[in-house]
Amino acid sequence: MFDALSDRFDGIFKRLKGRGRLGDAEVDEVLREIRVALLEADVNIAVARGLVGRIRERCVGEELSRSLSPAQQVIKIVHEELIETLGGETMKVTFASKPPTVVLMAGLQGAGKTTTTAKLARWFKQQGRNPLLVGADLQRPAAVEQLRTLGSQIDVPVWSEPTDPVAVAEGGLAEARRLGRDVVIVDTAGRLAIDAEMMEQVRQISGAVDPHYTFLVIDAMTGQDAVSVAQAFHETLALDGVILTKLDGDARGGAALSVKEVVGRPIAFASTGEKIADFDQFHPDRLAGRILG
Ligand code: GDP
Repeated sequence: MFDALSDRFDGIFKRLKGRGRLGDAEVDEVLREIRVALLEADVNIAVARGLVGRIRERCVGEELSRSLSPAQQVIKIVHEELIETLGGETMKVTFASKPPTVVLMAGLQGAGKTTTTAKLARWFKQQGRNPLLVGADLQRPAAVEQLRTLGSQIDVPVWSEPTDPVAVAEGGLAEARRLGRDVVIVDTAGRLAIDAEMMEQVRQISGAVDPHYTFLVIDAMTGQDAVSVAQAFHETLALDGVILTKLDGDARGGAALSVKEVVGRPIAFASTGEKIADFDQFHPDRLAGRILG
């Protein structure tokens, strides 16, 4: 995960540690190297510029601590600013005072939406909740079957019917109330690319079930394309957060490091493998720590 970026930072900081005092020229050089490393990792240009700008301000403006070497101080500042760029805090998930808490899942086909929907249900179970999965992806013939298979693996019921997606979502909500399930996760249809019909359908489902959380599943390996997809969905759906998938296969990290600042919504969860257990809330501090090694 993000190996290329980690290696670059490693090299930059190793060279830094070999130096005693850091003058303006050395700081400029380090900042330039960080900027290049971020751009090579496919980080959005404005995000990279902002991040380097904040690091520069702090390197110049902050009181230097006597207990840390100049190199350690630069590393600490970079670490803290990476955490901010990744979203700062882990997103807090709260529950509706009057259950069920409704979660709407959106995303392009192949992003990992259906498997992520099941992973999220498992996560809610681990929080002591009783989720119901709702298969409102009637576009892809096998999607509901796939959800049922995943649901049986995690022992979570799946509700669907061959009507239309809005009716399925509404019916799922009614079913949750009837069964006393306190979280409803609605899987919606994806397409290979964003189109007006898809957006309209997911907007209608959202209007019908009034979700507490709307999450967009995006594939980290698609880098800035994933960020553009998130921007487009956010304009239509007012996202609460994104769920980044396939982080295990993402050597660069551009989507993770750009999406919060570009879209203005946090990364709520992250998926790091094909297995149902390869999933957790997204922790910016842990990822920043991993990047810096
Ligand atoms: P959907 O079309 O968006 O519903 O996508 P699926 O849920 O069917 O997933 C598409 C493929 O991506 C499947 O082969 C999944 O196993 C795989 N996948 C999903 N999440 C991850 C992940 O975090 N890591 C890896 N390596 N593969 C994943």
